[in-house]
Amino acid sequence: MGEIAVATLYSGHMPATTQRSSPRTRTRDDLYDLIRTSDGLTRAELVDATGLSRSTVNSAVVRLLDAGRVVESDLEEKGPGSGSGRPATRLRVAPKSSHVAGVDFGHSHIYVALADASGEPVGEQRIELDVDLDAAGAMDVAADLLARLQREHDVERVSQLVAGIPGPLDTLTGLVRSPTILSSWVGLSPADELTRRTGVPVVVENDAVLGAYGELRRGAGRHYEHFLYVKASHGIGASIVIGRAPFRGSTGLAGEIGHTRLPGHTEMCRCGNRGCLEAVLSVETVREQIRHAHPGAAEEDLRVGRVDDPVTRRILDEAGRTLGGVLADLCNLLNPEAVVVGGELGLYGAPLLEGIRAAVDRHAQPATAAALEVVAAELGTSAELVGALQTAATAAAR
Ligand SMILES: [Zn+2]
Repeated sequence: MGEIAVATLYSGHMPATTQRSSPRTRTRDDLYDLIRTSDGLTRAELVDATGLSRSTVNSAVVRLLDAGRVVESDLEEKGPGSGSGRPATRLRVAPKSSHVAGVDFGHSHIYVALADASGEPVGEQRIELDVDLDAAGAMDVAADLLARLQREHDVERVSQLVAGIPGPLDTLTGLVRSPTILSSWVGLSPADELTRRTGVPVVVENDAVLGAYGELRRGAGRHYEHFLYVKASHGIGASIVIGRAPFRGSTGLAGEIGHTRLPGHTEMCRCGNRGCLEAVLSVETVREQIRHAHPGAAEEDLRVGRVDDPVTRRILDEAGRTLGGVLADLCNLLNPEAVVVGGELGLYGAPLLEGIRAAVDRHAQPATAAALEVVAAELGTSAELVGALQTAATAAAR
């Protein structure tokens, strides 16, 4: 059977480094990821899991074995009645001694994690910091945190680092593009800067793309072929996942929904326009409204959404409707199965999601809305970091 035709049935969902790869390479990478995230799989189980033909699975497995990326375990005990055919062997990822790392730069935080070769975290560091104002300082801190994790866990070598940044990154040049968002980062190549500080090969991605990838591999996105991932925090970004692959657009700038104009709004946005979604709605504006209604509430309670009363629910419902109005237009365009809401706003849960739901039901085509699920990110604010580690593990194994 033609491999290209089969591969389109089970299409790739790989990071930037492979987005222009051939269907054959994607099939191999998909099978590798299935093996990597299992306790070991037989060829028959790979056929069942993917719907690919036996011959396609076999030829991809042979290439993985030849490349030293997977190994076959010892022959298993043959059970009674298992016939005289070739006994099943289990395929596992070839053991590697090296580790991978992920960094999530938020507008006001840096998360760094160290993981084993399969992307499973072994340690993590999180700090609050204004990342926008001081790019060089933020990258110094990230490199220091990684060095600290390596010392703590006695890890000498990191083979791949993937970092997410909360702004427009041109995937053709690797440079941060916007003159107003992440202004101190403009013209920088974060990948080169981080490599210089850490000595590790670095891939940099838009944070919403990594969040989508994290949810796709380990969170709510596991259940969907086509979905929108929204990172709603200090800014609002989205990643469009089509056929289990994040869609990046021509230069990697797709999904900047934070700068969708809202009719009737004139709030000044940091991009220089007025009435943008993220000038009207962000985790700060929502917290400020809740704080205003609850002068005595502890800051930590505002942060994690522990204040639960009719006023707070109304604020969150309104926020959800504002976001949902923009998402409704996107749903009309793309007809996704789900919207997965991540970032710090996503932590507010049901009242926010119900607001989004109401706006989608109100503004999207009825059949489009009926086909749509609105869910919170299962990984919460860790989605971007998990996506970075998963991407790094895949890249390191290549
Ligand atoms: Zn804007």
